[in-house]
Amino acid sequence: MLRYLLWAVLAFSLVRLVSRLFRPERAQSPPSAQAAEPGVLVQDSVCGTFVDRSRALTARDQTGEVRYFCSEACRRKAR
Ligand SMILES: [Zn+2]
Repeated sequence: MLRYLLWAVLAFSLVRLVSRLFRPERAQSPPSAQAAEPGVLVQDSVCGTFVDRSRALTARDQTGEVRYFCSEACRRKAR
């Protein structure tokens, strides 16, 4: 009887181990992360700081070109 219980515990822990192995692989490539393009750096034209594009503030200049800023203070200076 004890041996059956031991096998049940072993099987249960094996299932948990396998599911844990597959879970991080799914978390690495969610479709939303690819759309946001994390890790792409853009330069703030006011202070020269490089900012992650997904976090940078944007504004369009007179020519309609998108410019990136590290903060609201830099965006105000550009105008
Ligand atoms: Zn800046």
